[in-house]
Amino acid sequence: MAKVGETCSFCGRGRREVGLLINGMSGAICDECVARASEIVQENEEAKPKSPFGLSQQELPKPEDIKKFLDQYVIGQDDAKRYLSVSVYNHYKRLLQKVTSDDVEIEKSNIIMVGATGTGKTLLARTIAKLLHVPFTIVDATVLTEAGYVGEDIESILTRLLQAADYDVQAAQRGIVFIDEIDKIARKGDNPSITRDVSGEGVQQGLLKLLEGSIVNVPPQGGRKHPEQKLIPVDTKNILFVCGGAFDGIEKKIAQRLNTRVVGYAASKATDLVDRNNLLKYITPTDLKSFGLIPEIIGRLPILTYLNPLDRSALRNILTEPKNSIVKQYVKLFAMDNIELSFEEDVFEFIVDKALEFKLGARGLRSIVEAIMMDAMFSMPSQQEKKLQVTLKYAQEKFEKSDVNRLQVA
Ligand code: ADP
Repeated sequence: MAKVGETCSFCGRGRREVGLLINGMSGAICDECVARASEIVQENEEAKPKSPFGLSQQELPKPEDIKKFLDQYVIGQDDAKRYLSVSVYNHYKRLLQKVTSDDVEIEKSNIIMVGATGTGKTLLARTIAKLLHVPFTIVDATVLTEAGYVGEDIESILTRLLQAADYDVQAAQRGIVFIDEIDKIARKGDNPSITRDVSGEGVQQGLLKLLEGSIVNVPPQGGRKHPEQKLIPVDTKNILFVCGGAFDGIEKKIAQRLNTRVVGYAASKATDLVDRNNLLKYITPTDLKSFGLIPEIIGRLPILTYLNPLDRSALRNILTEPKNSIVKQYVKLFAMDNIELSFEEDVFEFIVDKALEFKLGARGLRSIVEAIMMDAMFSMPSQQEKKLQVTLKYAQEKFEKSDVNRLQVA
């Protein structure tokens, strides 16, 4: 056997056959094997999943691509999708911007989406998250209170984002946060001095700090129970905030504004053109202010968009069209027991009718399908029958049998 240091332990060639031989404790490696090993390490690095934001400008999904992706999961809501797609695209571009001598700095444009509950705001946000290469989190504004009161501190929003980023602070600082139910922190009444408004204006003031872009000290585990925990400074300058809320009753404020502005002869023509069934599409920042958001917050949410109420045809489409529609999910559930599940067309109409009748919106579709399918889901897995065609008669019977009143309350 050759002496250690005389041959390469990897390729076996002798000192004379190679350019350089590097000795180790119990072996040696030649220059060619070093180069090859280095290539392998590099290939391995490249094969790893991309870092939270490993995309170049060419690889960025364009707004049209983002919208097409959303179309696969969310029915309608074209305006909101377009605004969201552009904002997310711009968010990426802002992250890629280099500091140049022209002093033009792309600032972020946080978004606010207004629309009745169950029209797809959270779904849009969740679907965007599927596509993203940045950390993403959804938080509920109703749990937030001013520091020191029962509830969660504003900083807890960033705790969630840090957790989504696996505590990679750099990645979290480029993330996206969806704040749901932002309308619930509207100012309660016109005179805030009567009682302290700890979950309204106080929270808005706190949120402002985050939206503006500042360094915030974040408790890594959240909560206030561990005052001794070390805080992590997080810069919110590049975090994109998307807010959503139902803003119940804001239509009245919009209607008032539309009416007071248009007076006189020309006015009657202008108001004729107003779509009274969907006043939300005329929403402006002024309406958010009348609802109780403070002007500073509104200023930090410059992109304002709305969601349409879901009509009969939208509800019908939601049942079957999205990539993971409710019906497709049930078909899959049954297929796992080798049961072929199918529905007659008029069953869908029946489900939509019931959702409309009980004013349950899209959220109710699932409960209704669940009520219809419950018996079959219970008994079929242990039976021989491997086929179920849901007819209108079957659906009506099962639905009547179920606790309809319970659905009404749900
Ligand atoms: P919001 O956040 O507006 O209150 P969600 O996005 O949580 O409403 O919607 C509730 C459920 O209703 C979703 O999980 C989804 O199944 C369904 N849904 C609502 N709107 C749509 C839509 N436009 N397209 C597809 N499904 C929808």
